[in-house]
Amino acid sequence: MSNVLLVAEHLNQSLKKSSLHALEAARQIASRSGGKVFGLVVGKGVGEVANELARHGVEVLVADDARVEHPLAEAWSKVVEKAAKEVSATYVVAASGSQSKDVLPRVAARLGAGMASDVIGFGGEGAEITFKRPMWAGSVIAEVEITTPVKVLTVRPTDFSAAQPGEAGQVRSLELPDLGTIRTHFVEFRQVKSERPPLTEARIVVSGGRGTRGDFSPVEALADQLGAAVGATRAAVDAGWVPNDLQVGQTGKTVAPDLYIALGISGAIQHVAGMKGSKVIVAINKDPDAPIFQIADYGLVGDLFQVVPELQKALTGK
Ligand SMILES: Cc1cc2nc3c(=O)[nH]c(=O)nc-3n(C[C@H](O)[C@H](O)[C@H](O)COP(=O)(O)OP(=O)(O)OC[C@H]3O[C@@H](n4cnc5c(N)ncnc54)[C@H](O)[C@@H]3O)c2cc1C
Repeated sequence: MSNVLLVAEHLNQSLKKSSLHALEAARQIASRSGGKVFGLVVGKGVGEVANELARHGVEVLVADDARVEHPLAEAWSKVVEKAAKEVSATYVVAASGSQSKDVLPRVAARLGAGMASDVIGFGGEGAEITFKRPMWAGSVIAEVEITTPVKVLTVRPTDFSAAQPGEAGQVRSLELPDLGTIRTHFVEFRQVKSERPPLTEARIVVSGGRGTRGDFSPVEALADQLGAAVGATRAAVDAGWVPNDLQVGQTGKTVAPDLYIALGISGAIQHVAGMKGSKVIVAINKDPDAPIFQIADYGLVGDLFQVVPELQKALTGK
């Protein structure tokens, strides 16, 4: 029997949707290994987050304390270690994201555990679970085995469906371990405030690349008309045209919306790695040989500055 500890990501007041996708992955592991899933919520004033997670049918441990208000890896990893030991977890799971990239490797080190990051699926037989993860910007899928007794994973939210609410589980508090000396301290969290939906959670994403020549107004106008999030290629980010939290791709965010519209984007493998899970891909590019057309469901060869306003008119029916 192998229990699974899910480390929740949240924004103090609400659970991040990515954690529900990670919960689904945790459930798949537990159902194969005959174990139970436990949730862990760390922070300050996070009672409602813990309740929200518990409503998805898991028992939740909550470490609600001012000393762990901010996700400092040095402190949080000690809390996760304690929780993992308390519930005899064989697996510690979290959604791939900047927070878990910071915290979980330390957790793995503290538990003497092997780690697989960005897991997109499981292989192996029964309780002998192997982990599938992309390499080389998704050109190769590796299937890896973790041979340590405790295993730590981050899972790609876009590759697992979101867990549905179930019979509410119990919420109980976890006393903090001795945090010792913490050599990092929190300075500031600058949250990006936008009227648009968050990139990784949006149903529609409209992204722009170098073909915009730095004028993102067609990208933004189309996004706003469709209630979509705005994304970008690294070329657009590196040029300083848009902030780097909009970058989609291998070194940016992974998205899998129902509809992904690529404007002036060539379709480099590193960009495609972050959006190829999208259900429908539409590409507008003036080069008929652009690689993006190889993965697009609908392709339009043309100048985005002409095509997008026409598309917008067609969408309003005017
Ligand atoms: C280690 C590494 C990691 C990387 N990580 C990422 C990543 O996370 N995300 C990412 O995006 N890239 C990443 N890259 C960069 C990637 O290799 C490409 O350079 C980048 O994606 C290209 O961006 P682009 O498509 O905007 O630009 P380009 O490749 O220059 O393409 C611009 C496209 O716009 C078209 N175009 C030009 N004018 C118009 C017009 N008026 N109307 C319509 N179409 C037009 C052109 O035909 C062309 O196809 C990474 C690279 C490396 C080496």
